[in-house]
Amino acid sequence: MKAEQLKAWREKLLVEHRRIEAELEGFKELTGSTSRESAGDLSAYSSHMADQGTDTMEREKAFLLAGQKRRRLDEISQALLRIEAGSFGSCDKCGEPIPTRRLERMPGATMCVPCKEKLEKQGRIPS
Ligand SMILES: [Zn+2]
Repeated sequence: MKAEQLKAWREKLLVEHRRIEAELEGFKELTGSTSRESAGDLSAYSSHMADQGTDTMEREKAFLLAGQKRRRLDEISQALLRIEAGSFGSCDKCGEPIPTRRLERMPGATMCVPCKEKLEKQGRIPS
């Protein structure tokens, strides 16, 4: 991938990273976890959730959403690391460029679709 393309991706991912972090801050208020354990301590929170009253469902939904956002944040962090390392946008297996559409959905992708499918097939059917 060209340097200016990498730079554009980096900008874009950093913006999304900041946005999701801000959203997660909002979730923290909603789920009330700020006054309790650290945001990363999921087990402490879910056991506490069992004692909650009528708003448990709402909190649970927010909690699930926050989980999805956290995964997306991980994905973006991976992508940023790959940009730093210069490996972003190409397949670790065959070295071919990973299509932009795939990178948008999974910025942290390390393999192109054919390589990933091949690997998954190999994993399912032991030779
Ligand atoms: Zn490949």
